[in-house]
Amino acid sequence: MTVSVADQKENINVAFRAMMAELADNSVALTFFDPNGEEFKGIHQTTWKELLEQNWTEEYELEGKTVYRLTGAGWLEGLWRVGAYKDGVLESRMAQLAASLKCRVKGRKRDVVVLLHKLAEDTSLPVGWVFNAIESGLLRKLWNTRDASWENPGILVRIPLNFGMKLLDHTAEIRAELEQIREQLDIAKDRLREVTCSFCGAPIVGQGSMPLSEDVDGYYVAYACGRYDTDGYGEEACPLDPRFPKLEEYDLELIENPRESALKWTCFPRAKTANGRLLHLHSELGHTSEEACQRLIDQYHRRAKP
Ligand SMILES: [Zn+2]
Repeated sequence: MTVSVADQKENINVAFRAMMAELADNSVALTFFDPNGEEFKGIHQTTWKELLEQNWTEEYELEGKTVYRLTGAGWLEGLWRVGAYKDGVLESRMAQLAASLKCRVKGRKRDVVVLLHKLAEDTSLPVGWVFNAIESGLLRKLWNTRDASWENPGILVRIPLNFGMKLLDHTAEIRAELEQIREQLDIAKDRLREVTCSFCGAPIVGQGSMPLSEDVDGYYVAYACGRYDTDGYGEEACPLDPRFPKLEEYDLELIENPRESALKWTCFPRAKTANGRLLHLHSELGHTSEEACQRLIDQYHRRAKP
């Protein structure tokens, strides 16, 4: 079965709606979803996989069956997907929880640790919901403030002394870091330019010394694009080099060899311009003059392709 991307995305929404309905105000740690259950009938196998890969759920073997449960991040995603951010209930519960947490550290000199159950009782909020709020870092994620966290998961909650304080904006630091990385990238690019063709980026495929005369050695660099640099004689241009010759810069000279039985014709490229000498085409043979000529044109086009 192939599922379109749109179907796949919608199926994830359907899965979240079903899981959040099933979860209600219970704790994500204690609520397991059976993919074969009636309420999850329309959920694709690939959707369960995707939820797992996004770390929105965890997979367990329970009494021989594969089951899933939401993570804290999955619960936050679920709230978002079912539109809970838009209704006032979530906001008022968050305010209630925050007020209670704030009250406990007020006037203290140190962090305060409380029982989860006590916290739920005092706020009159469902204990499962409070669990999920602590597990997911709800207040921190939504309000960008210092939040309570587990001292002991599911049992004890640590409330930091600076609870409710706005978290610092780290964007400036990140921006500076990004700037530094950009500079390093520019340096790396410059270095790469030294070892690749400056016109097309093709890598070097060979380099070394070559004799220019009996006593003088030159140096050559060959690139994958066909470019060939020397400090002496015999340069070839990259196809993207503006100096790369056009076909019109060659005279195609045809010579017939009557003594040859089959390939009677040879086509010689004769460069008419200085740029014409930046590409070394070799002669081509043919049964007819047209064939030899065409082969040479084909050779040119092969070489001219970047
Ligand atoms: Zn090149």
